[in-house]
Amino acid sequence: MEINLSKYAGFCDGVKRAYNMVDSLDLEKARRPVFILGSLVHNDEVNKKVEEKGIKKIGREQLFNAKPGEIGTLIITAHGSGPDVYEIAGVKGIEIFDTTCPKVTKVQGLAKVYASRGHKIIIVGDEGHKEVRGINEWGDGNALIISKEKDLKSINYKTDDRIAVLAQTTQNEDFFLRAGEGIREKYPNAEIINTTCSATHERQEEAREMAKNNDAMIIIGSVVSANSKRLFEISKSINPLSYFIEKAADLKREWFSGISKTGVTAGASAPHWIIEDVISSLKKI
Ligand code: SF4
Repeated sequence: MEINLSKYAGFCDGVKRAYNMVDSLDLEKARRPVFILGSLVHNDEVNKKVEEKGIKKIGREQLFNAKPGEIGTLIITAHGSGPDVYEIAGVKGIEIFDTTCPKVTKVQGLAKVYASRGHKIIIVGDEGHKEVRGINEWGDGNALIISKEKDLKSINYKTDDRIAVLAQTTQNEDFFLRAGEGIREKYPNAEIINTTCSATHERQEEAREMAKNNDAMIIIGSVVSANSKRLFEISKSINPLSYFIEKAADLKREWFSGISKTGVTAGASAPHWIIEDVISSLKKI
């Protein structure tokens, strides 16, 4: 069986950067104890490595309730966070170790600027996703989140309202563009700013091509990773023999009976060692 691995599979630059920063953080020199706000990526194995290094995961509530001195350093993940986290860290004397992806920082900045100019902010992204929440908080905190086609019907602004439309960086670009067109039809002056990340776009485009050119597709990622699930949806819509797995052990031999070409891609949170594992298991099959 021919195995074709995506050239974009695995960590995107933002996640790679965050992982390397955390990996090289010298805990002896850092203000301790060191905590991370949520998971570094949506991948259990990566998060286990972070924990083994001696970094504990913390939630927003714990952060806001912490007494001074209980948290020495706080790591902000590649998805970023709202300004309130930086403020509370300042108040409690917590050192921030910021691994926010620079592209996410840019979207946060846009939300801030447009909100300060009186625009209503619309974010095309997943409701409840950490990155979306952070972008919203850098704006006025009242953004409308559009996750699905039907959410477009819930937009109820006045025709002359000033509107800015932004995207979660890992959003499906096709959906963002469609949503943007729909919003423009209703609100001709809406500013549509495509903030989807090229890493996401390239990976999705390639998945589309691979799904056409292979008999079966394997998409590696966590079930809680939005960009991995999106890759799977794209692939499945083209090639019904698309399978979503978290690790090599999830592969099933029967998927490959009569298959001569299999494409493999992976979401931005899948580490290289899991991808290598999957490839070597496929070779054995
Ligand atoms: S997908 Fe793009 S914007 Fe998002 S973390 Fe990765 S590199 Fe940064």
